[in-house]
Amino acid sequence: MTRLPARRSLLAAVLDVSWQQRLLGHHVVPAARRRQCFSAGSKAEDSSQVTPMLKHLIFKIKSTGPITVAEYMREVLTNPVKGYYMHHDMLGERGDFVTSPEISQIFGELIGIWYVSEWMATGKPKTLQLVELGPGRGTLTDDILRVFNQLGSLLNKCDISIHLVEVSPKLSEIQALTLTGGKIQSELDVTSSVYMKGISKAGIPIFWYRELQDVPQGTSFYLAHEFFDALPIHKFQRTEQGWREVLIDIDPKAPDQLRFVLAPSATPATEYVIQSKEVRDHVEVCPDAGILIQRLACRIQEDGGAALIADYGHNGNKTDTFRSFRSHQLHDALIAPGTADLTADVDFSYLRTMTQGRVATLGPLKQQEFLKNMGIDVRLQVLLQNSSDTAMHKHLLQGYDMLMNPKKMGDRFHFFALLPHQRLAPSDQKMNLQHSKSLSAPVAGFGELSWK
Ligand code: SAH
Repeated sequence: MTRLPARRSLLAAVLDVSWQQRLLGHHVVPAARRRQCFSAGSKAEDSSQVTPMLKHLIFKIKSTGPITVAEYMREVLTNPVKGYYMHHDMLGERGDFVTSPEISQIFGELIGIWYVSEWMATGKPKTLQLVELGPGRGTLTDDILRVFNQLGSLLNKCDISIHLVEVSPKLSEIQALTLTGGKIQSELDVTSSVYMKGISKAGIPIFWYRELQDVPQGTSFYLAHEFFDALPIHKFQRTEQGWREVLIDIDPKAPDQLRFVLAPSATPATEYVIQSKEVRDHVEVCPDAGILIQRLACRIQEDGGAALIADYGHNGNKTDTFRSFRSHQLHDALIAPGTADLTADVDFSYLRTMTQGRVATLGPLKQQEFLKNMGIDVRLQVLLQNSSDTAMHKHLLQGYDMLMNPKKMGDRFHFFALLPHQRLAPSDQKMNLQHSKSLSAPVAGFGELSWK
């Protein structure tokens, strides 16, 4: 059985029309809204590499000694005053990196379908909280909301709300513009966990928070795209004396420069973070990701819903992936901190372990396979057929190639999902469960679909 007709039969049965036409319409988002991909950097080199962040870090190291890579990442990326994410827009052609939702509208549309499909499969709960972690420019949620809007007749009895977890004041401002056209209200009550609220163009309430813990409990569908890779990692090296943590210190030969050093003895992190069965000689561990995934797993176990995590990453086999990007080029992670992105591949096997069996996990599945299963080829054809503009055709085809080509994003990015156990239990174990009929549907995007 081919994947697409199988998928079509479920959705068409519900919607009674060609799903691509009905779900997504023919709307092509203007190319100008999307940035072109990975052009060479045009930014002028900084005249000085002694950035305010570097001065801050040197002061810190002089006061308290070498810092962990995790502390370095946390300071460089999210320090409230000088952090890289806090005060500028780093996404797109003129920035430092570009992400899938910024490349093609199709990406967000297919993710939107994934959420509707999961919402249906879990028995169409009366409320749907969509929670996005690290929403960047708000483009992904905007594309998802367009799908929700197209599906108004299906979702009209559902109370939808959007909850964005964003640490950056600058990016939350851009998200508000993208999603509400600027109709927002800053929360002046300092005791409130919501720091901003607004209404989407289609009238859906949107709330902004700094942390996941602030988002109200309830059936929620979580999304994290290129979010986990920005969380701080610890790095460890195996030595003859045992594991030693990699730290960052001032270079004694150049007092304005930083360098990596090994801790002279074991640190608390070496004791608690590295697994006893570890076989690699160098490992990166992200305890913040572990805590976050535990929180997501607990919420999904208690309240239902699902989480979709998409990022570059591996299944517990890679070693040294910590790196930096500036103007779409690799950059030395210790030079001019605060002016470039810092990132590390996501260890999906660690995420799976940290769910502690509270939820079922699917993936990691390569982006090209996930999007293929979601019907990207049909969606591309619909958009091509509905535009006669050659520039738009070129833009759509280039975007498709960037997302799907194994040498570009197709093989490097992976999809990983958390779902309540009962969502995947065999049908015979669900006989007594409410909504057992809808619960037996396979999960869109993961593996061959065979809707009955
Ligand atoms: N998801 C978007 C943006 C990815 S960039 C896209 O794919 O286009 C990473 C995003 O996570 C940014 O919005 C950044 O400000 C946010 N972010 C990074 N660290 C964060 C943290 N600790 N808490 C909340 N948001 C964070």
